[in-house]
Amino acid sequence: MVSVEERAHAAAAGVPDPEIPVVTVEDLGILRRVRIENGIATAELTPTYSGCPAVVAIELAVEAALREAGFDARIERVMEPAWTTDWITEAGREKLRAYGIAPPEKAAGSVRALFGETVVTCPRCGARESEKISEFGSTACKAQYRCRACLEPFDYFKCI
Ligand SMILES: [Zn+2]
Repeated sequence: MVSVEERAHAAAAGVPDPEIPVVTVEDLGILRRVRIENGIATAELTPTYSGCPAVVAIELAVEAALREAGFDARIERVMEPAWTTDWITEAGREKLRAYGIAPPEKAAGSVRALFGETVVTCPRCGARESEKISEFGSTACKAQYRCRACLEPFDYFKCI
């Protein structure tokens, strides 16, 4: 039997990211947990990038999904510990790649990444040779790269 917490969690977890709808809040690792207290479902979410306009949209979407599932819903923004791209699940990385977005390289918070030496793997051909074209891709959370092997431009989910 599915507990009420599990039902609430499932409702919240399936909410897609407004900017990259192929991945859910669970794939991105931003849904910490959903707890039930006094009949109210509280979803704990950690924003990806502060200042990312998607943050509020995600919170509203999760709240709406919980209400649709029949819960009184609340959103709690959890800032500590801060989200990093390492929280994106393997399933989420696979979905990003299939969508043509290079998923963030693991352990990207390193000093090397800060100095722009991140090696980004092309989501199309898998070559590990690419160059940054622009700091900003289709959204502020992505940078634009071009593969040196297949010459295709692609978005890279920026690491923080
Ligand atoms: Zn390529």
